[in-house]
Amino acid sequence: MADFKLTYATMFNPPEELHTRFDEALAKVRAELGKEHGMFINGKDVFADEKFEDICNSNTDLVLAVVQKGTAQHAQEALAAARAAFPAWSRTPWQKRVEIMRKVADLIDERIFELGAVMALDVGKNRMEALGDIAEAADLIRYACYQMEKNEGFIVQMGKDPLPGYEARNISVLRPYGVWLVISPFNFPFALTAGPAGAALVAGNTVVMKPSSDTPWIVRLLTECFRDAGLPDGVVNFVTGPGSTVGQALIDSDEVDGVTFTGSYDVGMGIFRHFAQKNYVRPVILELGGKNPAIVSRNADLERAAIGIVRSAFGLQGQKCSAASRVLVEEPVYDDLVERLVELTNKLAIGDPTDRNVYLGPVINKKAYQDFQGYIQEIAQAGGKFLTGGKVKTGGMYDKGYFCEPTFVADLPLSHRLWKHEMFVPITTIAKVKSLDEAMQIANDVTYGLTAGFYGTEEEAEWFFDKIEAGVTYANRPQGATTGAWPGFQPFGGWKGSGASGKNAGGHYYLQLYMHEQIQTLIR
Ligand code: NAD
Repeated sequence: MADFKLTYATMFNPPEELHTRFDEALAKVRAELGKEHGMFINGKDVFADEKFEDICNSNTDLVLAVVQKGTAQHAQEALAAARAAFPAWSRTPWQKRVEIMRKVADLIDERIFELGAVMALDVGKNRMEALGDIAEAADLIRYACYQMEKNEGFIVQMGKDPLPGYEARNISVLRPYGVWLVISPFNFPFALTAGPAGAALVAGNTVVMKPSSDTPWIVRLLTECFRDAGLPDGVVNFVTGPGSTVGQALIDSDEVDGVTFTGSYDVGMGIFRHFAQKNYVRPVILELGGKNPAIVSRNADLERAAIGIVRSAFGLQGQKCSAASRVLVEEPVYDDLVERLVELTNKLAIGDPTDRNVYLGPVINKKAYQDFQGYIQEIAQAGGKFLTGGKVKTGGMYDKGYFCEPTFVADLPLSHRLWKHEMFVPITTIAKVKSLDEAMQIANDVTYGLTAGFYGTEEEAEWFFDKIEAGVTYANRPQGATTGAWPGFQPFGGWKGSGASGKNAGGHYYLQLYMHEQIQTLIR
């Protein structure tokens, strides 16, 4: 496997050894289900009075792990541990921090198959998506290390102002803020915890991580990679429990100096507003939802367009912030494209996500399953036509999990609310447009601006890049119309309601978000 680099764009043709090793790891993981896992505060496992079960969404008979229902008190303890650890960690030479963090990335790589197997069971990702999430985490951490090294610790000699009789020494230094909170979503629990936490730590902050209550187990295993790489006690802390209690307690605390929240628009905007209540402004990095369009020109290569759109619409069951949830097609190629989309979608295998041939696993939980059914009803009532799917899967193993059919919808009036609402289930709406200008107008007429895809000539593609309001844009990409970004290749972040910083993770400008500048002037 030495010459195979796993990314979301290369994952469609993995070497056979990758499957063998995944299967071996899966057997080991399955043999050890149901164990209790602590939170991790100040270098120690911490247990709460109340527990909750992390249930498998592809087979709800399986308890994957028993985890702690942390309280506001645990949130305070974690923040206090991070505060106490900050002076020493922030003064650790950046070269040493980079060395330890590279060790974390190496440990993640070493454990990738076991972690991937847990991910498939915990989130319901198919095996390649599951392995991708783990590999992406390691690369996000490495990218932060690379940025730190490339910029030589962000210590810059500035000009000497001419002061007769004196000599000025002016140095610009980027320094960490202090205690950084990382709140992550269920859908990329590993990469979107490790990425922000990794950047915060490389920069010299200490960290408290809180995962989604749907995916605590896999983030506990990430915490163990940090622990085993030798991070000092208190530098990384991990608490579990409901967002509305333990998450809110973290957000409410004055002990937080900065936060990275990745999740839904409503919760993120709530955090943003709440965070502004303090007597000064603290950094808030928000990575929020998407309503990502794929635009298909009359000049498009329809084979590429169809495969790219199907992959992006239904990868991870439509539960990617970058999912292609709207398709806008020029009239002359509409019928041809739809025929191809239907044919490809009907071939997708739905089932146990650990099975090597399966593309769609279950949606995350019962609420998402019910949401899917609610949207289907709403679409039918509004006159939408189901080109594919439109139902949940039932019978046999399907009755034990939350399986939904990949659903393309035509003829939903463009005025319908679901054209603008992030559904986060495998439903994508398609519309016929008269011109690319009309497509662009519809594409940009949403609160979100995360990713977007285009298929057409290169000249049209340049027009698309210029006009589209989105942070991650792709043209003529069969590997995914709107999905499949990778650190160092396609840094990931959103415009408008999709993100707050305007700088993309895994790119040139991201690590700097975790530090504030100090100018040190010394007169001799
Ligand atoms: P969510 O907003 O429901 O939850 C995200 C996290 O916030 C969870 O850990 C949750 O426990 C916590 N939380 C909930 N209420 C809280 C509160 N009041 N205070 C503090 N924390 C709280 O999102 P989700 O369902 O886990 O994830 C899906 C969403 O995330 C989608 O909208 C998706 O588009 C978005 N997302 C965005 C990106 C991106 O990079 N832009 C990436 C992945 C997912």
